[in-house]
Amino acid sequence: MAMIEPKEAQRLILANANLLSRVQVDLIESLGLTLAEEIISNEDIPPFDNSAMDGYAVKSSDVASASKENPVKLRVQSGLAAGQAAQDGIESASAIRIMTGAPIPNGADAVIKQEDTDLGASEVLIFSSAKAGENIRRAGEDIATGEKVLGAGHPLRAAEIGILASLGRSKVKVFARPKVAILCTGDEIVPIDEPLKAGKIRNSNAYSLSAQVVAAGADLRGFSTVKDDLEATKAAISEGLSRADVLIITGGVSVGEYDFVKEAMESLGAQAIFWKVAQRPGMPLAFWLMGEKLVFGLPGNPVSTMVCFEEYVRPALLKMMGRESLFRPKVKAILEEDFKKRLNRHFFVRVIVKEEDGRYLARPTGPQGSGILKSMTLANGLATIPADVNLVKAGQEVIVHLTELPEDH
Ligand code: AMP
Ligand code: MG
Repeated sequence: MAMIEPKEAQRLILANANLLSRVQVDLIESLGLTLAEEIISNEDIPPFDNSAMDGYAVKSSDVASASKENPVKLRVQSGLAAGQAAQDGIESASAIRIMTGAPIPNGADAVIKQEDTDLGASEVLIFSSAKAGENIRRAGEDIATGEKVLGAGHPLRAAEIGILASLGRSKVKVFARPKVAILCTGDEIVPIDEPLKAGKIRNSNAYSLSAQVVAAGADLRGFSTVKDDLEATKAAISEGLSRADVLIITGGVSVGEYDFVKEAMESLGAQAIFWKVAQRPGMPLAFWLMGEKLVFGLPGNPVSTMVCFEEYVRPALLKMMGRESLFRPKVKAILEEDFKKRLNRHFFVRVIVKEEDGRYLARPTGPQGSGILKSMTLANGLATIPADVNLVKAGQEVIVHLTELPEDH
């Protein structure tokens, strides 16, 4: 199969990443998911005119002449706390003591904040006039009855969850989280809590990938491991697919004698979409369809695995969850040191990005080998350097994907 460009790989993946079903979930479970229904309010928020301040509800005409030097004295008729219903209308030359959030009594058209009074209990001196409507939050000023509050496709963050709660929506329709299984291949990998024998390494990919899957908001269905053996790999792939919409395989997609994943996928009848992307890290990235299900073959090197997840798998998962914005924010940053690379490969360079005087600066994290996972712990961005460039000089601009920030929307 021909090697393809990163953009083409991304396009092919997204073209095959389809929306999952709509499900109804408890409001608090919807964080990070995408709304799958239109929300029209059938009530006003706030539901009634209420005070924006602790103070005194008045008729503005009664206090028109009030000032510090010439205060107006009003009789304090009664008091209203938040949560109470307004009992009686306001009489003339009177004030009603009122707390923030309490309903505005009939006839009152302003609230004098208590700092502009002497805080009197039976009579109060008012030191300031007020315009009609001052310090009053109107019914429906946030959301009016009949208003479209959120559309399908809107990402559910804390604010959206708050607004749905204010509308009394304890359940909400969202696009389901894709179920994701992880399969790690390799005779050398052992569970992380077992003693290491000669030639073995711990299965770190299972953990970094699991964390990435959870952070993307997908439904992690655990990980399994398999030896470098064709039949065992076939069985493990089938088993992984039986419990997931998306299977992520690590290792075994290269050209080594023990790389069985491609052969296993072929003999299971998968449709190969591509293998090999002109990039570093992650050149042997592979992608298949198995019916409706997506299968990613990520190269086993720990950095390759993580970068391929970030650049290719994550956008696909977000798309399946109904998101419209699939990519991290991209910024132009000035590279702080020379970076040399080979031609004909796009590079994803782990960089530390910072903002200084309104511009971004990016510094490579150090050695960029695809086994150097420390480079990922230091980085907050991936600088993309095109295939046809072999040297970026310090001071030149590069495009950086800000991998710590949510995709913009
Ligand atoms: P492979 O893609 O199978 O050729 O593996 C490439 C490199 O990644 C080898 O050095 C492996 O030891 C390493 N590797 C593969 N799988 C894992 C894993 N699950 N955790 C950590 N390193 C791995
Ligand atoms: Mg291997």
